Amino acid sequence: MSEVTSTVVIGAGHAGLAASHFLTERSIDHVVVERGEVANSWRRERWESLRLLTPNWLSRLPGHAYSGADPDGYMSATEVGDFIADFAVGSQAPVRTGVTVTSVRRTEAGYDVATDQGAIRAGSVVLATGACNRPSVPGLAAGLPASVEQVTAFDYRSPDRLAEGGVLVVGASATGVQLASEIRRSGRPVTLSVGEHTRMPRTYQGRDVLWWMEESGIWGQRYDEVDDLVRARRLPSPQLVGTPERATLDLNALTDLGVDLVGRWSALRDGTALFSGGLRNVFALADLKQQRLLDGFDAWAADGATGERPEPTRAPATSRLQLDLTSGEIGTVVWATGYRPDYSWLDVPVVDGKGQLRHDGGVVDSPGLYALGLPVLRRRKSTFIHGIEDDAREVVDHLAGWLGRS
Ligand SMILES: Cc1cc2nc3c(=O)[nH]c(=O)nc-3n(C[C@H](O)[C@H](O)[C@H](O)COP(=O)(O)OP(=O)(O)OC[C@H]3O[C@@H](n4cnc5c(N)ncnc54)[C@H](O)[C@@H]3O)c2cc1C
Repeated sequence: MSEVTSTVVIGAGHAGLAASHFLTERSIDHVVVERGEVANSWRRERWESLRLLTPNWLSRLPGHAYSGADPDGYMSATEVGDFIADFAVGSQAPVRTGVTVTSVRRTEAGYDVATDQGAIRAGSVVLATGACNRPSVPGLAAGLPASVEQVTAFDYRSPDRLAEGGVLVVGASATGVQLASEIRRSGRPVTLSVGEHTRMPRTYQGRDVLWWMEESGIWGQRYDEVDDLVRARRLPSPQLVGTPERATLDLNALTDLGVDLVGRWSALRDGTALFSGGLRNVFALADLKQQRLLDGFDAWAADGATGERPEPTRAPATSRLQLDLTSGEIGTVVWATGYRPDYSWLDVPVVDGKGQLRHDGGVVDSPGLYALGLPVLRRRKSTFIHGIEDDAREVVDHLAGWLGRS
């Protein structure tokens, strides 16, 4: 006999727990199933030195906010794990840890959720399994010489655990610039392959740039107001790092550290990596977008003040167009090329050819099925910790209507 409940929430990261908070508020019986422990991704899938790029004062969940002594600081992964675990305890979320969902099937009455510890039948299901379950690695990784070690952001822990020799970091979004900086500071030669990226100064006019993103309303922009939603959902994460000095970590900072910048990795031929030319154009585009962002902040503030503008990205006099990976110069390739969700266990036909869930603001293309925590799900800030509250409330509102409990 299967267990029966109104709603199964899959995943006990901050998104699943926020859904649970609003389900409890509406007295909707539910369980939260989690294959690992609460906040598993922060406990098991992050590198050792990681700090949030969002400041502590922004870390808030429904009824639960940062209350420590350093509101302008940035939490370590362990601190984020503790913050989320405290939220789970405070909201008395009915979490079952160590339970892996192996399939979700649609039935006439709702959904059958199969787990490695038995089946659960429910009228509705919330997918809160995360947007970053797997590293997204390009196909050319398969052809790399065996002498080069390959590491993704999931396996990477610290520079001293890398193989001897130089390191090629691929990808210059938040993960790539943070890892390139840390590995270079450890004394290794580092080459960074740079494609499209999003520049942001850490502070602007004395305030954290994310204060501007939040207060100016950019982050709160709704998914149905965004001009090009497909593009917005694919935007690279900003080049930001959380440090006590509130330092900017852009490509100029990496050049100053001695990181060698090359273009986007476009092909692999006979063990040689080939990089695109045109770095100057890539830099110019990122500089222009940053300029527009800061102009937008000034226009919003409407006080006539203009902050100091960051120096344009300095292009190297010459950048290498190829790198022989069989020469021994590079010991490790670090793939910082993004993340993707994993729905291999979802037996409902709602995933498109690119592995993305078909949904409208978290209302999935199958009645009674919902999602949370995906890029620009209902707002630009949907994947960020502080972005979940409004999304979860609205998705649970819809879910309650579906169950006839509104
Ligand atoms: C490197 C990195 C840095 C980030 N930095 C910041 C930051 O500075 N500030 C910020 O606000 N956000 C940041 N984010 C974004 C976001 O906050 C995190 O991705 C966060 O973990 C997302 O929370 P979530 O609850 O949506 O998913 P997750 O935390 O991934 O939780 C999903 C849960 O579902 C579980 N699960 C998955 N599949 C199954 C299954 N089949 N059965 C049972 N359980 C399952 C997983 O074990 C996991 O615990 C960062 C993300 C990454 C990857």
